[in-house]
Amino acid sequence: MTIRKIATIGHPVLRQRSREITREELASEATQRFIDDLIETMRDASGAGLAAPQVYEPIRIVAVEVKKNARYPYKPDIPLTVLVNPVIEALTDETFDNYEGCLSVPNLRGVVARATEVRLRAWDRHGNDVDTVVRGLSAGTFQHECDHLDGAVFLDRVKDTHTLSTWTDFERFHMAAFVERARALVERYGS
Ligand code: ZN
Repeated sequence: MTIRKIATIGHPVLRQRSREITREELASEATQRFIDDLIETMRDASGAGLAAPQVYEPIRIVAVEVKKNARYPYKPDIPLTVLVNPVIEALTDETFDNYEGCLSVPNLRGVVARATEVRLRAWDRHGNDVDTVVRGLSAGTFQHECDHLDGAVFLDRVKDTHTLSTWTDFERFHMAAFVERARALVERYGS
């Protein structure tokens, strides 16, 4: 396994629509190795998720995993999930204000409205169908990663630029209030 370089904002690979991959491609050794690298890179960078274009591969694959995450200590755990060609659909108009960060947008966080409940349809890394509903704070993580596949980053969805903050100032000025809101959400949805 190889830890890959992460593309940062300004690189065109983050701004294009990534392409679907075929079952044959998915089954190939190269793609399976790539998925291992994607997971390894996500873990190495303490990301809650990582999308293939963030490591310069414009294909529709994302990995998500939260396990007592150091970057996001308030996030509930999410078991390792690899989604191939995911289709995400909001199941409600209800949103919550999520304070997001991104490995491709160094040292910046901002508030983004995310649906509290989404349906995800995809393949797993072995080509098996995935059809699942994710709620609460975890729903935001999946929306963030799927956005990357369409060339969007969280900054595009920040409505109030006054919420933008460095990581240090997030901890100093915004984290306490956000964690309180996040806890209420996690309590309500269990995720
Ligand atoms: Zn991101």
